[in-house]
Amino acid sequence: MSNNVHDVIIIGGGIAGLFCALKLSPRRVTVLTAAPIGQGASSAWAQGGIAAAVAEGDTPEAHARDTIAAGAGLVDEELARAMTREAPDRVRDFLAYGVPFDRTLEGRLAVGREAAHSARRIVHVRGDVAGRAIMDALGAAVRNTPSIHLLEDHVAEELVTDGPRVVGVRARLSDGRQITTLSARATVLASGGIGHLYAITTNPPQACGIGLAIAARAGAVLADTEFVQFHPTAIAVGCDPAPLASEALRGEGAILVNGAGEQFMLKVHPDGDMAPRDVVARGVFAEIAAGHGAFLDARTAIGPEFPERFPTVYASCLAAGIDPVRMPIPVAPAAHYHMGGVQTDARGRTSLAGLWAAGEVASTGVHGANRLASNSLLEAVVFATRVAEDISGMTSPSTFPQRASTEPRSSPDAASLSVRDLRTTMSRHVGVIRNRDGLATALERISCIEREAKSTSLRNMATAALLVAAAAFARHESRGAHERSDYPRPDPALARRTFLTLAEARTIAAEAIHDSHRSIPAG
Ligand SMILES: Cc1cc2nc3c(=O)[nH]c(=O)nc-3n(C[C@H](O)[C@H](O)[C@H](O)COP(=O)(O)OP(=O)(O)OC[C@H]3O[C@@H](n4cnc5c(N)ncnc54)[C@H](O)[C@@H]3O)c2cc1C
Repeated sequence: MSNNVHDVIIIGGGIAGLFCALKLSPRRVTVLTAAPIGQGASSAWAQGGIAAAVAEGDTPEAHARDTIAAGAGLVDEELARAMTREAPDRVRDFLAYGVPFDRTLEGRLAVGREAAHSARRIVHVRGDVAGRAIMDALGAAVRNTPSIHLLEDHVAEELVTDGPRVVGVRARLSDGRQITTLSARATVLASGGIGHLYAITTNPPQACGIGLAIAARAGAVLADTEFVQFHPTAIAVGCDPAPLASEALRGEGAILVNGAGEQFMLKVHPDGDMAPRDVVARGVFAEIAAGHGAFLDARTAIGPEFPERFPTVYASCLAAGIDPVRMPIPVAPAAHYHMGGVQTDARGRTSLAGLWAAGEVASTGVHGANRLASNSLLEAVVFATRVAEDISGMTSPSTFPQRASTEPRSSPDAASLSVRDLRTTMSRHVGVIRNRDGLATALERISCIEREAKSTSLRNMATAALLVAAAAFARHESRGAHERSDYPRPDPALARRTFLTLAEARTIAAEAIHDSHRSIPAG
């Protein structure tokens, strides 16, 4: 890295990071990413598409109503309305960047329907490859923008602070050899989600909560960290990450059955297999926990048309030795999306001066306790645009010198056993269904892993896990994606968002661990 002064550093090269960089052009921006652009980002794996009220008869107000209903009482309604109002403009931006959204015969944008949307409003690309097409288009646009400097294969490990202000970032080359400190006037966190804190996830390995951890360590306020959305039907064949059997399969009539062939969701919810995502995830989880197994059976509804209609899912099944034309697909819930994150305001500012956040790492409040399908790519681009507008309004260039120190350090992540331990703990105790004892056990285990971590990456993962588990421990109700078996109903008195710092999370953890030891009878 040269001794250039960095005006703006963006941590993350998914949809939020790249969109923000493009919107900031021609301002000089450095995009730091843990993996090469196009890899290591959930954005590239999005199948469904982006929600936007672009069809005749649909309105941003209706989209906002659906978003608010899905969020189970915790949505910031004003921001949700702003997001749905800005959605059509962001779709136009995508078209300008060359994203080939599917069109009808008349040439209008084709829109699909997904669960809990009251209208057809998902714009998509060649059926199920929206994320890949968007990332290809944004990646090409970024590479053609001279003001954007890419620093690939650099993992941010720590934010650099000057008092209460964030003034840059310390990053390690992915192979673990070197650490570089970069200073910037504005730092944007766009590092994605936390799925890889769990043993079963649909997210890429880079989605392991480092962004959340480094912001928390710098003193940022986090929001709603207990709310993790689990996809009900990941294909359970031992792959990490787990491939998805998309919701569209159930939309086309595929049914969920247990090992005895019973359609178990019929007992759970009047809408059966088409119940809301969190309800189906809990149904599948319960069936597996009871030892009955869970399978998606598409033999009758889709049968021989499977390869043609669902090529991505078909390929994943075949790779695992399952022919879904003739066999039910084994499924399990998988950590999929984090509603919580670093708290941001309407401009994407965090509680720390000099630090903005956008995309899955941020918590704007538009998802509340549960995200409406295909609203996450939308949130990422709406707020990436707002961040860019806010930073653009700041006129003076960077005055912080770059600390161009490149320190050799040997710290390969030799902690894979502990990583596995952490992920198993999260899936077992901070997963689809939680309770007080399990969460206290998790907090103790996570605190121990964090304390004893030999590598910065493991310590950061454990810090992120602590933030999720502590907020889950402290919310004494079930709401949206957060299900407590010991508090099975929503409590109207608790219908408010969670805001917490790392120090507060540590206090919750210490009290939980202390209480759990006290409640073990002596002898
Ligand atoms: C299988 C799947 C299907 C999905 N389908 C849809 C859908 O149809 N519609 C929808 O709206 N949403 C969907 N989602 C969710 C959506 O894809 C994500 O929420 C969204 O892409 C997040 O974008 P992002 O830019 O915030 O993060 P990401 O796209 O995950 O990008 C994060 C970036 O940060 C980098 N990074 C991470 N940590 C560091 C670090 N410490 N230092 C430097 N760089 C770092 C990563 O390498 C990556 O470049 C899906 C998610 C998955 C996993």
